[in-house]
Amino acid sequence: LREYCEVEVNPREEPPSKSELISRLKDKHALLCLLTDKIDAEVMDAAPDLRVISTYSVGYDHIDIEESTKRGIYVTNTPGVLTDAVADFTWALILTIARRIAEADGYVRGGRWKIAWSPTLFLGYSVYGRTLGIIGLGRIGIAVAERARGFNMRIIYYDVQRPPLDVERRLNAEYKPLEELLRESDFITLHVPLTRETYHLIGERELRLMKKTAFLINTSRGSVVDTRALAKALKDGWIAGAALDVFEREPIEEDNPLLKLPNVVLTPHIASATVEARSKMAEIAALNIISVLKGEKPQYLVNLNVLNVKPLEKVKMI
Ligand code: NAD
Repeated sequence: LREYCEVEVNPREEPPSKSELISRLKDKHALLCLLTDKIDAEVMDAAPDLRVISTYSVGYDHIDIEESTKRGIYVTNTPGVLTDAVADFTWALILTIARRIAEADGYVRGGRWKIAWSPTLFLGYSVYGRTLGIIGLGRIGIAVAERARGFNMRIIYYDVQRPPLDVERRLNAEYKPLEELLRESDFITLHVPLTRETYHLIGERELRLMKKTAFLINTSRGSVVDTRALAKALKDGWIAGAALDVFEREPIEEDNPLLKLPNVVLTPHIASATVEARSKMAEIAALNIISVLKGEKPQYLVNLNVLNVKPLEKVKMI
């Protein structure tokens, strides 16, 4: 970026406050942001020269896309390069919750391991041969399905868009309406973006449809699940457990009821956190900015309609 632009970097680890963001963006042409930066109409109004918002993430629910398009601001993201990292992590969560690995680790470290071996110590559930329900069979959902083959699982999925038949065939994945998927799955894993339609997609009604022995895995966005309903489901045994990387509020609030429950595994939004994925994401986020400022179509443009609102030759400046 420094080869092409003057670059101002947030010097702190924590995200800038809204007022700080607004004052810093006043005269900027490009913004490289994180998912913790909420970019709404107010922020955009304060940045009349802004030409591109490049988010260092695949999800873009923190950016008001409609408002950016209206203003001719290009929005870009970093899909694909974090798919394998997130799919691997999803599998780590599936195994951790089913086999109670986090609980057992705490037991050993906490000095509670007093009997060498017992037939019922930390009994968990089998993963091999069970039914995996994938909600959102996009890039990450597909990568999760590919990994399920080694576990000889039956794969069912729900999506608003059916993938081409050869993808279904290759994955041996069968489409199911949401309700049927909820009733039939032993593990349900969420891979949808957060949108108006997916907000609280999994609430009390859906959790009650799941098997009492089933697990819910969420590496998508926290607000896809109704936290209060989930806490109730876990406490009252409507489902067996949950493993979550994302939350409605991040960092998680101190009094979140999930923190007190034993049948849940919690990680701090780290599903894409591998050296490889994060390096590639950084590179793509920078390249997306350079392309737009050069008047070239960026590799990962979110709001394709912006090309009609403000053609690339009008945003070109380097
Ligand atoms: P993608 O666009 O390739 O796949 C999303 C899938 O969800 C698509 O197939 C789409 O048709 C489907 N979908 C959209 N709306 C739906 C609805 N209402 N009901 C059912 N299905 C619906 O995206 P991806 O690259 O697979 O990423 C998925 C999401 O994962 C991202 O949007 C992001 O929020 C999240 N994510 C989280 C992390 C993390 O660190 N935990 C990392 C990367 C991505």
